[in-house]
Amino acid sequence: MGKPTGFKEISRELPADRPPLERVRDWDEFHLHFPEERLQAQGARCMDCGIPFCHNGVLLAGMASGCPINNLIPEWNDLVYRGLWREALERLHKTNNFPEFTGRVCPAPCEGSCVLGINEPPVTIKNIECAIIDKGFEEGWVVPEPPLVRTGRKAAVVGSGPAGLSAAAQLNKAGHWVTVFERADRVGGLLMYGIPNPKLDKKVVQRRVDLLAAEGVEFVTNTEVGKDYPAERLLKEFDGAVLCGGATKPRDLPIEGRRLQGIHFAMEFLQANTQGLLDGRKGKNYVSAEGKDVVVIGGGDTGTDCVATAMRHRCKSLTQLEILSKPPLERASDNPWPQWPKVYKLDYGQEEAAARFGADPRRYLVTAKRFTGDEKGRVKEICLVSVEWQKDEKGRLVPKEIPGSEKILPAQLVLLAMGFLGPEDALLNQLGIERDERTNVKAEYGRYATSVKGVFAAGDMRRGQSLVVWAIQEGREAARAMDEYLRQT
Ligand SMILES: Cc1cc2nc3c(=O)[nH]c(=O)nc-3n(C[C@H](O)[C@H](O)[C@H](O)COP(=O)(O)OP(=O)(O)OC[C@H]3O[C@@H](n4cnc5c(N)ncnc54)[C@H](O)[C@@H]3O)c2cc1C
Ligand code: SF4
Repeated sequence: MGKPTGFKEISRELPADRPPLERVRDWDEFHLHFPEERLQAQGARCMDCGIPFCHNGVLLAGMASGCPINNLIPEWNDLVYRGLWREALERLHKTNNFPEFTGRVCPAPCEGSCVLGINEPPVTIKNIECAIIDKGFEEGWVVPEPPLVRTGRKAAVVGSGPAGLSAAAQLNKAGHWVTVFERADRVGGLLMYGIPNPKLDKKVVQRRVDLLAAEGVEFVTNTEVGKDYPAERLLKEFDGAVLCGGATKPRDLPIEGRRLQGIHFAMEFLQANTQGLLDGRKGKNYVSAEGKDVVVIGGGDTGTDCVATAMRHRCKSLTQLEILSKPPLERASDNPWPQWPKVYKLDYGQEEAAARFGADPRRYLVTAKRFTGDEKGRVKEICLVSVEWQKDEKGRLVPKEIPGSEKILPAQLVLLAMGFLGPEDALLNQLGIERDERTNVKAEYGRYATSVKGVFAAGDMRRGQSLVVWAIQEGREAARAMDEYLRQT
């Protein structure tokens, strides 16, 4: 695949992102794009490795290794190298309904397991994926393809994130009438209201939603199943349902001062921000970081998005707290290829904060101990404490505070981005759906059937907060399981 000697002749290259200090002045995407010849050269680096690991999505040491949707990566790398873009697009759409999303936001576990990555920088798989689909749209090759035959069966999908959208796309392709219920005012789940516009432009999300609608999928927004639309109606009016409601319960930080004003869950900040951007006016829930000392608690993707958003609000200072230690620059010996590389990375938000304030905003091995407020009940300061990880009596590593390491930082806005605890209860309780020990919906991976007949589950609601690419994969597979069910009943 690719050019047999390409990996020896050509170095890995990615298009530069827009300069950090320029892009924090707007909400446009920060990605720039390579011309075709340079993308072809990058495709040429794919080296016919014999047994490619890049498309073999599995969990190794608890993390994804290879592409969870089994994208046919070596095939489309070769087609791009040969300039056969339309054929590359056809291959890409065979496994991925939404490459324009993954090509922008996926952390690319495929690249972590690329065989070339054993001793050289891996092939730029994600960037090539994005280029193929972007060209497909530019050339007008991506058009609505409604099914030729309808089965007459009715399928409901609850939740319109990547899991719900891929389930809807596949069920519709199979000829069933699909209705997607979404409680928000816009379709897309975290693609729309979680991941900020600079990383994933909402026009890109809406373009795909419009295509699905043109293919016959019905979207019902502002409708929470279990509240605005009774759960039992779902079971009466549809022949089957896929639950894709996400894992939206945020982890809280119940320390002294938590109830002060100015302390928000990350999603309150991010959702209101995107909503304001799309509506052209700031709504009543809008939270401004302008002129404030901002502290983001949590070092993951959600925390990074809070950093980038606060930078665009022109915050006064920014600190991001991470309870774990700083990752190494290169793979550690206990994190070998083809595992996901747990290495230090300056993501877009931190890059922007570093450009403006002179350093990566993250502080490692530190946690919040208490918040202090002013006379009006607004947060004013945060007390931090350093931690070290020690084994408890059961042998589990737990963070222990280091006595005397407290530090006080000014903070008029605190954003809690410490992960999510699982799906919300109302709908699941109404339907009587069994849960697993982590409170996620109990539905075996690969089968997706819940404890209630005809009801399936996919995405974060089943596996816990994860990645867009896993949500797409589960939505596709749950649709297949439901299609089999609908054809038998
Ligand atoms: C801020 C943030 C940034 C992230 N960034 C990335 C990233 O860069 N890359 C990546 O791969 N992953 C990222 N993730 C994770 C990724 O977004 C999720 O894993 C993925 O969106 C899960 O998809 P889903 O379809 O299962 O659920 P969701 O995207 O959460 O969608 C669930 C939808 O269901 C709706 N819903 C829930 N209950 C009901 C109901 N009863 N009735 C009607 N509608 C309902 C919700 O309103 C929501 O729209 C990020 C997550 C967050 C929070
Ligand atoms: S979806 Fe993610 S893992 Fe799969 S090829 Fe694209 S970037 Fe790689």
